[in-house]
Amino acid sequence: MSDQNPVFIPGPTNIPDRLRHAMSIQTMDHRAPDFIELLAPLLRDLKKVFRTTSGQVLTFPASGTGGWEAAITNTLSPGDKVLAARFGMFSHRWIDLCQRHGLDVEIIECEWGEGAPADLYGERLAADSGHEIKAVLVTHNETATGVRSDIGAVRRAIDAANHPAMLYVDCVSSLASMDFRMDEWGVDLAVSGSQKGFMLATGMAIIGVSRKALEAAKTARCPRTFLDFGDMAAANEKGGFPYTPPLQIMFGLRESLDMLFEEGLENVFARHARIAEGVRAAVGAWGLELCARRPELYSDTVSAIYVPRGFNSDELTNHIFDTYGVSFGVGLGEMAGRAFRIGHLGSLTDVMALSGIAAVEMAMADLGYPIELGSGTSAAQEHYRRTARPVLQSAA
Ligand SMILES: *Cc1c(COP(=O)(O)O)cnc(C)c1O
Repeated sequence: MSDQNPVFIPGPTNIPDRLRHAMSIQTMDHRAPDFIELLAPLLRDLKKVFRTTSGQVLTFPASGTGGWEAAITNTLSPGDKVLAARFGMFSHRWIDLCQRHGLDVEIIECEWGEGAPADLYGERLAADSGHEIKAVLVTHNETATGVRSDIGAVRRAIDAANHPAMLYVDCVSSLASMDFRMDEWGVDLAVSGSQKGFMLATGMAIIGVSRKALEAAKTARCPRTFLDFGDMAAANEKGGFPYTPPLQIMFGLRESLDMLFEEGLENVFARHARIAEGVRAAVGAWGLELCARRPELYSDTVSAIYVPRGFNSDELTNHIFDTYGVSFGVGLGEMAGRAFRIGHLGSLTDVMALSGIAAVEMAMADLGYPIELGSGTSAAQEHYRRTARPVLQSAA
């Protein structure tokens, strides 16, 4: 099978050659001065991606799940109450992680395909007059359903309820691909990872931490050692890590940040929006429906698409893989068998996206879906022709 075919799973994402080369380095001494020269600017530049000046960024050798665990264990104590909405597999798994750490999770159950309900968060917080809720958890981009939520609205709901709870946001599949504003939205903990918008190998959890969250880490009693904020911040301060850092990924991250800044974050977001629009145009032309209920919820990094009644989405993704050698995301949790997902984040151009759309279309035709071959591809082509801007093509 050709490794030239892009993956269309919503992470890990395609790694551009420039980043693969950057990660291909010989071992170096992480206590030598040149490592110190790498680390400080890296952490400083990551703050620009989170859009924080008041907070700081901590990184750990882990995937995004490790980032969740770091956020929770460093700032909360067993028995603490947190408020979370469940509207997809990732928000569900974050809740599960909290429960396993002995937290008392108040859950707002939502239909999958809906976004974070700012109004319901506000109601629950207003009812919590004793301020028992210590943290509010929100998944910015629910990768299982292709839903982006309005974090600013959740912040306004917290403020309107005059509640001191901290705001924790999972931005694993949104950071560096869609607009994210840690300071403006008053986010205390923003959890991400290396293998989605940063276009790198999996292996680094990247966390934006507010001053309030760092302060909370001084008294929080959930056990942690490897993921300890205090140890990491103190070591970073001296230019190092408390243990062996994932050097290759850090060199990749340096290059990734350079690529993102060369393209310009606004242009990166615009490219994702434009590519996503093309994918959605194809879905519309096929006569299929997105899991995301309304346009304002549409994610620009992943589209979850219901297959028609009587078809099984797992058969579709298996068939595309077996026949055309391309991977797409399967339906997760409630969506298993009912929906497949097209990941369109990271290093991607409209030309790459068209290949994925065309491959899905061929597979659907093979399996007797009621779609017209070429309809989705041409709808996307029309969108990309209409909106073509050569300057946006730089990130391949
Ligand atoms: C990918 C992802 C994660 C983390 O998954 P890992 O496999 O641990 O990196 C968490 N939340 C969301 C929304 C994601 O898309």
